[in-house]
Amino acid sequence: MTDFLVAIDGPAGSGKSSVSKAVARKLDFAYLDTGAAYRALTWAIQHGHISAENITAAGLNENFEYSISTDPDNYWVRVGNENVTDAIRSSEVAEGVSEFAKQPEVRSFMKTLTREIAAQSQNRGIVVEGRDITTVVAPDSQIKILLTASEEVRLKRRSAELPKHQQSGIKRQVSDRDANDLKVVDFLTPAPGVILVDSSDLNFEQTVNAVLELIKYESRQGI
Ligand code: C5P
Repeated sequence: MTDFLVAIDGPAGSGKSSVSKAVARKLDFAYLDTGAAYRALTWAIQHGHISAENITAAGLNENFEYSISTDPDNYWVRVGNENVTDAIRSSEVAEGVSEFAKQPEVRSFMKTLTREIAAQSQNRGIVVEGRDITTVVAPDSQIKILLTASEEVRLKRRSAELPKHQQSGIKRQVSDRDANDLKVVDFLTPAPGVILVDSSDLNFEQTVNAVLELIKYESRQGI
């Protein structure tokens, strides 16, 4: 079981997924993308695998068969036997996810699910990234980071990741999605004990190094 948890929160396009993955690789830690579960649930609802009346604690426990890899070098996401790794990145899912993520039953289910998956990891540590990891899921974790970047930089980064035909919806998928998500969790203001890393003027490598330095420093402080 893992005994060192690095929590990284941040808005869409902040680079937290790729940075978290790279940090996990460097430290030989596991990596957990928590947004994938919200996306997979949205995909399952949109494709008729789960009905609206099953969005309750009992309904989700029974009907949402979710699994995710925590190996940063072999990332996959499944719903039942179906591999949805690519499907959950669609604009349809990105634009629909906030609607389900705001529901208290869903959030409570996801909190337990995330803690269970993190606890099952066999690595000596795990990097867990999302929106509410530093505040709700793992507020007692050893390292808590809020990774941000200016809106302009985030829009540019996300746009570069998407195929051309999806780029016109970029504002809906980044700024509008953040505005909706912010009604539920504040992931722009660091809570006490959370370190802010602003990557607006840093390239990818510099951001990864900044996070690694923080982890080194904080672990020396015995946190
Ligand atoms: O991180 P990603 O952009 O893939 O997250 C997709 C969506 O999942 C977010 O827009 C948000 O609605 C939800 N989410 C959340 N809490 C988390 C992670 C993601 O509400 N910890």
